[in-house]
Amino acid sequence: MAERRCTSCNASLTNDMSSTGFKCPECSKEDVLRCGKCRKLGTKYICKCGFEGP
Ligand SMILES: [Zn+2]
Ligand SMILES: [Zn+2]
Repeated sequence: MAERRCTSCNASLTNDMSSTGFKCPECSKEDVLRCGKCRKLGTKYICKCGFEGP
């Protein structure tokens, strides 16, 4: 199984209980993963399709 990593900062999410994941609202195909830190800071993520979200 591939390691889950934050889409924004590439941090490992393996032990991050406050991380979250959801489908990209634009393409509905790619999984967007965010670590707890990026959630808190509201760091932007960029999907492979080019969609940018807060
Ligand atoms: Zn992050
Ligand atoms: Zn996308």
